[in-house]
Amino acid sequence: MSGRTEGRIRRFDPSRRNPSPRPASRSAVRILLVEDTTADAVLLEQRLADASHAEYRVARSERLADALVRVATEPFDIVLLDLGLPDSVGLETLHRMHERSEEVSVPIVVITGHSDEHLALDAVKAGAQDYLFKGEFESRMLVRTIQSAIERHRMLMELQEARQREHYLATHDALTGLPNRYLFADRLGQSLASARRYGQRVAILFLDLDRFKTINDTLGHSVGDQLLHAVARRLSACLRASDSAARIGGDEFVVLLPGIRQSVDAAKVARNVERALSRPYRMGHREFYITTSIGIALYPEDGENAEDLVKNADTAMYSAKDSGGDNCHFYSRQMNASSLKLLALENDLRRAIELDQLRLHFQPQIDGRTGTIVGAEALVRWLHPDLGLVSPVEFIPLAEETGLIGQIGEWVLLEACRQTRHWQDAGLEHAAVSVNVSPRQFWHTDFHGRVDWVLRETRLPPSSLTLEITESCLMRDVDSTVKCLGSIKDLGVAVSLDDFGTGYSSLSVLRRLPLDVLKMDRSFTREAIEDRDGSMVAAAIIGLANSLGLSVLAEGVETEAQREFLIEHACPGMQGFLFSPPLPAPDFGTLLNEGRIELPKPNPED
Ligand code: C2E
Ligand code: MG
Ligand code: MG
Repeated sequence: MSGRTEGRIRRFDPSRRNPSPRPASRSAVRILLVEDTTADAVLLEQRLADASHAEYRVARSERLADALVRVATEPFDIVLLDLGLPDSVGLETLHRMHERSEEVSVPIVVITGHSDEHLALDAVKAGAQDYLFKGEFESRMLVRTIQSAIERHRMLMELQEARQREHYLATHDALTGLPNRYLFADRLGQSLASARRYGQRVAILFLDLDRFKTINDTLGHSVGDQLLHAVARRLSACLRASDSAARIGGDEFVVLLPGIRQSVDAAKVARNVERALSRPYRMGHREFYITTSIGIALYPEDGENAEDLVKNADTAMYSAKDSGGDNCHFYSRQMNASSLKLLALENDLRRAIELDQLRLHFQPQIDGRTGTIVGAEALVRWLHPDLGLVSPVEFIPLAEETGLIGQIGEWVLLEACRQTRHWQDAGLEHAAVSVNVSPRQFWHTDFHGRVDWVLRETRLPPSSLTLEITESCLMRDVDSTVKCLGSIKDLGVAVSLDDFGTGYSSLSVLRRLPLDVLKMDRSFTREAIEDRDGSMVAAAIIGLANSLGLSVLAEGVETEAQREFLIEHACPGMQGFLFSPPLPAPDFGTLLNEGRIELPKPNPED
């Protein structure tokens, strides 16, 4: 099939279900007869009237100008077009009608004189479905020509739509309808070619949603999908017609900004995008917020080709994320070095358990009135062969991101329980341990089964174990959270809510959760003695825990003044550097043997 007979491609609309523009079979076939010779027109209409098995409704135009208006405004199934009209002659007549009829998808059969067979064939090559010779309108032949022209045209349209659909699916993201990475690469290539020719600049924004994994893991994939859809809509709404956005991975989007004059213009667009995406999202009865990390790379300074530019915008995005997210960074050359470092760190982390590089430290939890040790928090460290002791603040988020948290969390739980049982066997019956649990671990492994197994394996009494969950574990619907926590509590272990006050959990949710302890985040402990507001907030958190029947444990107690404040406000549970930093197991064992920590002597001058 030649390109010419297919005609121009109409714009594909993915929302349209039925690709066939007009059904071919209907009771009456609507014909626009464009014929200036009345005798020919009458003959043709008579022959059609003779046809018994279908009804033909014929409208007639004598001039092309009139026909062009009618074909655009009235519904026809076919146009029978005389090529010799008072206002247009020959192939020109066909071209003009074809241009118009294509927009409304109507097939054309041309009518020519017998001597013009060449012209008729040229017309077919130029897009007509078939031809008839003037005066030779035999009824059966006429009907067959019309019906097969309509049917052939319908099949062509379907084929064209199928091809467009195939092309659309190959170049667009099925979830959001945005261009995918292939179409983006194509557009970026074109933009760079034009920028090179005309000495222009191009900017690329690389976007990644902060905490999207947590949302997906805790609220489920269908909410995650809805969120991505909403993000795509807001993103597109921020851009000019010449810009284009694409989804190139799970929660990764890229934006192409051609013809940027200065780098601040790119920063302005990024700021608008950040603002649009940070408005609250309502899904069902839930409302939540997300933030975005954005990296910007500019042509020509940050890369000469598409691959380098996208890679560098990605690196800048990671730098924005590393600095806490909800941020936008421009690419700088030093970043390449640090992203290589991160990649190497991820590879090393994969092998850390195997190579026995993880260690547990224990920080005492004490009764701040007496200094008696009431428990310990197990805190993981990574003894890296080159980097030394790596903080969990650096590698736990990486482990969450890469899914390695499953293995690491399980190792921590087993090791903490094993060590605590070991102390108990050595005569320290009251040894107890708190273990941190990440959201992904909580929802995605058979967490209940694993805790049960570890308790059996280590023979640790369940009452000696507390699991510390964070508020981000509670983002799923309340019923399933209550159910999951309940099943864990049925094992006999306690549950505490870590870093309380830094998340968004509402009071009504808190009331329903089967918790034992609220751990007040250390920012509140610090601010408790800084000013009046700080002390009111800390007192309110303690009061809240008490009224919910939970114990409170203040994190990050560093000064005597903080200890006194807490005692005064009925919060004896404390943890912090004032008493002890996290210690390696043997050192903590020694402390546990003593049973209590020497409290600082009150200063007689105070
Ligand atoms: P977290 O659970 O809130 O642990 C308390 C953190 O506060 C510990 O940091 C501890 O060393 C630190 N800290 C204790 N007392 C003080 C103080 O007086 N002042 C200050 N400024 N800090 C104090 P660390 O060990 O660096 O752990 C940081 C975070 O990493 C933990 O916060 C926890 O969220 C995470 N983490 C540690 N171990 C694990 C683990 O085994 N699993 C999981 N999922 N997360 C862990
Ligand atoms: Mg903790
Ligand atoms: Mg904490």
